[in-house]
Parts: sequence; C-alpha cells; structure tokens
Amino acid sequence: MRLRLKGRRASEKKSKDVLDFARSYLSEAFPNPDRQGCPSDSSLRSLAFNPSQGEPGVNEHLAACSPCFKRYGELLAELKSQREAEEGLSWRRISAWSKAHPILAGTALACAVLIAIGAGLLLRRIRLPNVPPVETHRAPSPGEPVKPPVAYTSFSLDLSALSPVRGAEPPTTGEVRPVAVPGSPLELTLTLPLASAEGPYDLTLTAGGHTFWSKSAQAHLHNGRTLIQVQADLSQIPVGFYNLEVQSSVGIRLIQPVSIQPSPPKTGEQRP
Ligand SMILES: [Zn+2]
Repeated sequence: MRLRLKGRRASEKKSKDVLDFARSYLSEAFPNPDRQGCPSDSSLRSLAFNPSQGEPGVNEHLAACSPCFKRYGELLAELKSQREAEEGLSWRRISAWSKAHPILAGTALACAVLIAIGAGLLLRRIRLPNVPPVETHRAPSPGEPVKPPVAYTSFSLDLSALSPVRGAEPPTTGEVRPVAVPGSPLELTLTLPLASAEGPYDLTLTAGGHTFWSKSAQAHLHNGRTLIQVQADLSQIPVGFYNLEVQSSVGIRLIQPVSIQPSPPKTGEQRP
C-alpha cells in the first residue's frame, strides 16, 4: 500500500516534471512574433474557460506556437485567480451570514411571532362576527319560556324623619304612616336620618313575624346625607302592609311601615 502510494506520488512528480519541461519548452521553442496563423484571443479564451467548446485545431496550434501557448497560460492563470476570488467571495458571504446570524435569527423570529399574532387576530376577526348575531337575532322558539330582562325602576324612600329604635326596644310605628311602595324590581335609595353612620346595614321586609325579603347593603355619605342604594326585587312580595327594617351593625334600627302595591300590569304577572 505504502509502496503503491509512494510509486504513485513518484509518477505524479515525474509527470509534473515533464509538464513543467514541456511548458518551458513550448513557451520558448516556437517563437511566432508576427502571430501568423494564430487563432483569435477569444478562441484561446474559450478554450481556457470552456475547454469542451474550444474550436478544433486550437489545441494543436498551441503545441506549435509559443506566443499562443504563453497567452493560453496567462488565460488559465486568470481563470484560476477568478475562481479563487469567487470562492473567497462566497466564503466571505457565508462568513458574513454566520456572523449576522443571531440578528437575522432574531429578526426571523420576530417576523414569525408577528405573523402568528396577525394570523391569530385575523382568525379571531373571522370567527367573532358569527357569535353575536346568533344570540341577538335568534327568534325565541314557541313554547320556550321567555325570561324578560329585569328592569329596575328608581324608587326613593326618605327615612330621615324616623326615630332610631335602639337594641330590642319594641317598635313604635303607630304614628308613622305607611309609604306606598311598588311591588316591582326597584333601584332603591334610602335616605337615613341625619348623622347616621356609614357602613353595613341589614334590610328586611317583615310582616306578622315573617321575613319576606332581606338584603345587606352599604350606607354612604352623599352631600351630607347618609344613603343606602340597593337593588330590591319586590315583584314576588304579596300586596299588603309590611315593616321595612334597616338595622346597622351597631344595633340601631329604623322601622318604616310600607304598603306594597300591585306591580304594574306591563310585567304581565297575575296576582290573586
Ligand atoms: Zn499562435
């Protein structure tokens, strides 16, 4: 193996020597100062750059014309340096790319993210408009119970003239006239007596020892008055007389007799 390689190298060296000799010999042996019968420079160039497309006979001429042979050698050298320059350029391009890679990769990632976001928004935009019309334009099927939206009407109740009842004192409401209150969903505003404390209150609607409605609410100061604003749906309360009790956490009670009125006919509810 080693012998064969050695022999091959030796033969390669030998052929190189022969070529070098031929080169120097051919460069000098056939002077042709007038370039008589020489092919054009473009013919030599095409032989050097595209050997397969070389004109026939040019090879033979090179072997018998030193100026053409020299010129051919120059063209080969030109080709070689051109190839090297191209390779160098392409290598520099690769190098530039690899150096700029993190930035390019970052840019590419940012682009991908933006594209993904854009696609997501687009998909959402395509999907969304389908949702509301289904809900809003859906005709209620016959027989299906239609639950109308609860409309709360504002109702104010002034309790500022009431005397607070302390602790477990029996309510003395005989002298207070009942206030008519509609038996419907109310946006109830209670005005508490002057200097009533802010904070949590319990509201109850009682009659004959039974509680028909109750709710916890916060009292707040508005322009020097203590108000409780609460939603009270009294549409299920039977018509009649009740006591509306407003009790604070410190045990102060306000008792307002109320008369629950029939709810307006527009709600469509029938009462016995
Ligand atoms: Zn020639």
